[in-house]
Amino acid sequence: MSISATYARSQAGPDAGAFTCTACKATYPLAQVAGNLYVCPGCSHHARIGAHERVRQLADRGTFQEWDAALAGTDRLEFFDTRAYVDRLDEARVRQQLPDAILTGQAALQGHQVGLAAFDFGFMGGSLSTAVGERLARAIEHSAEAGLPFVCVTSSGGARMQEGVFSLMQMAKSVAALHRLAEAHLPFISILVDPTMGGSIASFAALGDVILAEPKAMIGFTGARVITQATYEQLPAGFQTSEFHHARGLIDRVVDRRELKEVLAQLLAVLAGPSGEHSQALA
Ligand SMILES: [Zn+2]
Repeated sequence: MSISATYARSQAGPDAGAFTCTACKATYPLAQVAGNLYVCPGCSHHARIGAHERVRQLADRGTFQEWDAALAGTDRLEFFDTRAYVDRLDEARVRQQLPDAILTGQAALQGHQVGLAAFDFGFMGGSLSTAVGERLARAIEHSAEAGLPFVCVTSSGGARMQEGVFSLMQMAKSVAALHRLAEAHLPFISILVDPTMGGSIASFAALGDVILAEPKAMIGFTGARVITQATYEQLPAGFQTSEFHHARGLIDRVVDRRELKEVLAQLLAVLAGPSGEHSQALA
């Protein structure tokens, strides 16, 4: 099993060789679940997976070349809540084997060259730190410069509270980078996985030329209780799921993880053309 499946493994319970589904509570051999891309063989619940595992699932074997691997953030506010922010960062870096909550690079996807980004929810909730926003923006810019479609798998709680307004700035920065991608007539495919919330869905993640989502992913701006308290409205059941948003047009298609790579390859063939003539295809 790949060490990059840290997050899914952390949900697997005390027996490291077994996986207990958080939805149906059934237990399966971990190797069986890993072979099923961390989708429960019984109920098809999509377990959360880390960024390394996501890239392993999507990129053709041996093709991923990481961008900006050394880019790591700092604690410019010297933030301390119950613990020092720098200690939280250090712990997450060791556990998730990432400098911050995103992994970016170039990869082939069934032969299509793409810029690829994957958020890691296990790293402080996939939140938008300065380093995450910078690495995301650079990945979009690298894609624009290299003439590559950009694919981003988002799993993020939104702003990184410990970085205050510097975190919020990442929303504008990522959107500006996407504008440059659009000017280059290159497609952006946004994939929303459980959960995609807050500043992430309120900026770059909602701007895909095509927006896909995994089944039953929680997608929304803020939690149901906060919305109810602010609006005094009764909210419909399941209003923050992939399926609810799909029925209302926010999401183009809900795609099972086991079909995601194939669907992406089909989209890339349509949007970018088999020979990679992206500009002509979208001009
Ligand atoms: Zn299950």
